[in-house]
Amino acid sequence: MSTTKNPPVTKNMDVTVEIIGIGHSGEGVGRINGYTLFIKGALPGEKVRAKVIKVKKNYGYGKLLDIVEKSESRTEAPCDIYNQCGGCQLQHMEYSAQLEWKRQRVINNLERIGKLVVVGEDVNLEGHLDADQSDREKLNENKGKQLNTNLPLSNGITALPTLGMDNPWNYRNKAQVPIGEHEGGLVGGFYAQGSHRIIDMDICLIQHDLNNDVIREVKNIAQQLEILAYDEVSHKGLLRHVVVKIAFHTNELMVVLVTNGERLPKQEQFITKIRDKFSQVVSICQNINTKKTNVIFGDQTRTLWGKEVIYDYIGDVKFAISARSFYQVNPVQTKILYEKALEYAGLTGEETVIDAYCGIGTISLFLAQKAKKVYGVEIVKEAIEDAKINAELNGMSNVEFEVGKAEEVIPKWKDQGIEADVIVVDPPRKGCDETLLQTIIAMKPKRVVYVSCDSATLARDLRILEDGGFKTEQVQPVDMFPHTVHVECVGYLVYQGID
Ligand code: SAH
Repeated sequence: MSTTKNPPVTKNMDVTVEIIGIGHSGEGVGRINGYTLFIKGALPGEKVRAKVIKVKKNYGYGKLLDIVEKSESRTEAPCDIYNQCGGCQLQHMEYSAQLEWKRQRVINNLERIGKLVVVGEDVNLEGHLDADQSDREKLNENKGKQLNTNLPLSNGITALPTLGMDNPWNYRNKAQVPIGEHEGGLVGGFYAQGSHRIIDMDICLIQHDLNNDVIREVKNIAQQLEILAYDEVSHKGLLRHVVVKIAFHTNELMVVLVTNGERLPKQEQFITKIRDKFSQVVSICQNINTKKTNVIFGDQTRTLWGKEVIYDYIGDVKFAISARSFYQVNPVQTKILYEKALEYAGLTGEETVIDAYCGIGTISLFLAQKAKKVYGVEIVKEAIEDAKINAELNGMSNVEFEVGKAEEVIPKWKDQGIEADVIVVDPPRKGCDETLLQTIIAMKPKRVVYVSCDSATLARDLRILEDGGFKTEQVQPVDMFPHTVHVECVGYLVYQGID
């Protein structure tokens, strides 16, 4: 790391800089005499001219002025509102390059944070230093302690090429759009970056087409019926958010109107107009949220018309999705991710499996098709209720779900004598609790399958598991969120014991 005392740049300075990596929010990472400058819109391999707009002690920000040398991976972002929205960060990079970058980021974190050795094809760490450095800083903030860096090395992990989408557009099954007013008209789209001003959006390229169509039409109908948009400053007005969910396999649609109050004027007209336009809509719900909050949903939901839930499938497993239940947003890639988890679990029908951080039981049920018994644990009570409903829906009696913290429930299961052949974990970004990792080590399952949405915490946790006798064989990145910086991956570990 650089020990430069004074930054080599000052505010408003015009600099020419080579870009060597991509930062957390998709910005290009440039280096000037060891000093890091984040430049939005610049890509690795480019030389750009930028104006310094913010200078901090160890890093700063620049505004892209000119591309002096262009990356071969640069492409025109197809979305009209790409620069204002912020929902996608990598549209200006060819999709194949995005996939390669995602794999590289995983490799980098495994090597630098986990002190693990990654073997195989064209592992190239050049240019990923700074992004990686910020991953490590974040990790240390989380943990409040430094990682031990004098650890033995693993004998080699295969990091497979990222599994991408054939068509990386229109992949989202859920749209949730804040509604507001602008010059007397009703608008709905997204918050302008760094503010709560709502910018109207006609189309989002990563949404399913029907979600876009429904959102557009619901805005029109609300305008025609003179329904007032909610204003978060005055806390007046009615319509706060429109949420649309589509089940990719059944094409069933649910519309949820989130309102600041119980009464929805002209409710019947609203319903009829939506139904007239979209035969696929099978459920129209109202969620009431009268709180002054950024949280989208309130506690009370009622069905205005049709069914309470829509049904979707991941592979052969059926799921009921209610207005508020969590469901993976990219169903195509979810299936690919779960198939990988299933392959790594190596099930023959005889195994006992634990699924930690199970959510609504999606992975649990997917694995229950091939396992003798699956135990799922999850902290959110409503998610476990959904999980139980879904188990019943599929006639699966070999699954049990419990509400609680994985790090408390699994040690209890162990004390009760439950032995697991396979343990699957799918924790939130902060990774697994250390107590849980120590319990896994003590339980010695034959295999651990680690589904991760943050490769920095994955790397930290793999190191702990390796020290406890597991060996990481493979890591498979899966692109769940094309055109964004999010990287999802599955790790496969086997128990080897400690020599
Ligand atoms: N496996 C699920 C969801 C994974 S998201 C799926 O594929 O859909 C991570 C989940 O972990 C969330 O549902 C979150 O509520 C839950 N969670 C967070 N902390 C937890 C803890 N300490 N113990 C158990 N579950 C936890």
